[in-house]
Amino acid sequence: MTDIAFVEKRLAGWGNYPLVDARLARVERYAELAEWAHRPCLARGLGRAYGDAAISLQGHTLLTTRLNRFLSFDPVTGVLCAEAGVSLDDVLRVVMPQGWFLPVTPGTRFVTLGGAIASDVHGKNHHHVGSFSAFVKNLVLFTVHGPVRCSAEENAACFWATVGGMGMTGLIGEVELQLKPIHSADMSVSHVPAENLSEIMALMRDPAQDDEYTVAWIDCLAQGESLGRSVLIRGHHIDGALGPAPGPAKISMPVNLPGFCLNSHSVRAFNKLYYRWQSRKTEPHRVAIAPFFYPLDGIRDWPRLYGKNGFVQYQFVLPEDSAEVGIREVLTRISEGGNASFLAVLKRFGAEGEGMLSFPMPGFTLALDIPLRAGTLTLLDTLDTIVLAHGGRVYLAKDARMSASTLQQMYPRLGEWQSIRHQLDPHGLYVSALGQRLEMC
Ligand SMILES: Cc1cc2nc3c(=O)[nH]c(=O)nc-3n(C[C@H](O)[C@H](O)[C@H](O)COP(=O)(O)OP(=O)(O)OC[C@H]3O[C@@H](n4cnc5c(N)ncnc54)[C@H](O)[C@@H]3O)c2cc1C
Repeated sequence: MTDIAFVEKRLAGWGNYPLVDARLARVERYAELAEWAHRPCLARGLGRAYGDAAISLQGHTLLTTRLNRFLSFDPVTGVLCAEAGVSLDDVLRVVMPQGWFLPVTPGTRFVTLGGAIASDVHGKNHHHVGSFSAFVKNLVLFTVHGPVRCSAEENAACFWATVGGMGMTGLIGEVELQLKPIHSADMSVSHVPAENLSEIMALMRDPAQDDEYTVAWIDCLAQGESLGRSVLIRGHHIDGALGPAPGPAKISMPVNLPGFCLNSHSVRAFNKLYYRWQSRKTEPHRVAIAPFFYPLDGIRDWPRLYGKNGFVQYQFVLPEDSAEVGIREVLTRISEGGNASFLAVLKRFGAEGEGMLSFPMPGFTLALDIPLRAGTLTLLDTLDTIVLAHGGRVYLAKDARMSASTLQQMYPRLGEWQSIRHQLDPHGLYVSALGQRLEMC
């Protein structure tokens, strides 16, 4: 690989903000990774990180989706080995009909294995099983030092800097993953309505209301006594017939919605209806895997709902003790400002993993989609101060605008990560736009 073929284009993450000029190249074959590791570049998977985490400003942004070979799969043990550009969707197509599922899955299946590791993604079962890295048996990382296999036991510092390391320790080439057995393609799901924030948090803490997977949808425009009005959605895998993996999206957003369509009145009306509709489903009912885990994957190009200015997703976690007070403050700011967010999702986190920059900590995490308009960035700075004051942190995979000093206060193991990163990347080659903005490297 002597000449590099690339295109120059304006590139963004899933939220379409910020949009920056980038040089986009593609790795065609696994063997090319060793050479790429000697150049300024940053791996990009399916671009589902919301902000600027998967863009290089100083070198090439390297598309990895052609690294999509399955290397081995043992249907008896459920151990899968694949190249890092394989998507979770690809994995499900192969393994679901054979009775296996992802042990941890984010809310979209259109992410690559490399992206899932780099963000150390979490799912609706974090309070029981932890995040994605807990199931990664080992991975191969390409750096200037050559390929290195690492795991929790072998080259452990490299492993724990890479999971959650947002692509800035090197290029992940292949991954060995332990899958989880399932006995059907369906879930048993039941809903519990909650009148307000205290009620939903009590429900989520109550072992009698717990399930294998839990998540709450919050009406973030409800105010006063109803602040935090929500629906707890609980589910578990059930026995039955195995089936195929989820199919493609049936609906699409053909154009950007004009900004005026999404306002506090329309979202308030939507939220009211949605709450009424969802809170009736209290009896256990059968739901297929796709609508339970991946509701948004059912609508192609759904970010167009937020118009051409894009949106930011603000996701933070607060520790157990301060979670309720802190989330109340955040929701009050959002609802008072009339900031329309269709999507506000609350999850419970369990024990912290060992990833130096992994996001989860024991407590509650709230994710809010907020359309970008005048005043949004100032509002988010205010939310940062609330999160900081309550001992929490913001998720890097969703971030597009945080400041370097905020990051330093939120991630206590940043210095440790920086020193391992410096050993792995002494010439500062693998730096993302996010890393530059947050002065991480
Ligand atoms: C609808 C939706 C729902 C989501 N739900 C969740 C959720 O429930 N939980 C959660 O944790 N996250 C969630 N996410 C975020 C998403 O899972 C992460 O951003 C994930 O990293 C995206 O993977 P990707 O392949 O698209 O990677 P990209 O967005 O392309 O890149 C993300 C990061 O991974 C790095 N990276 C990618 N490939 C490699 C590689 N081969 N080697 C080294 N680094 C690499 C990039 O440099 C970048 O820093 C959601 C995103 C969307 C759009």
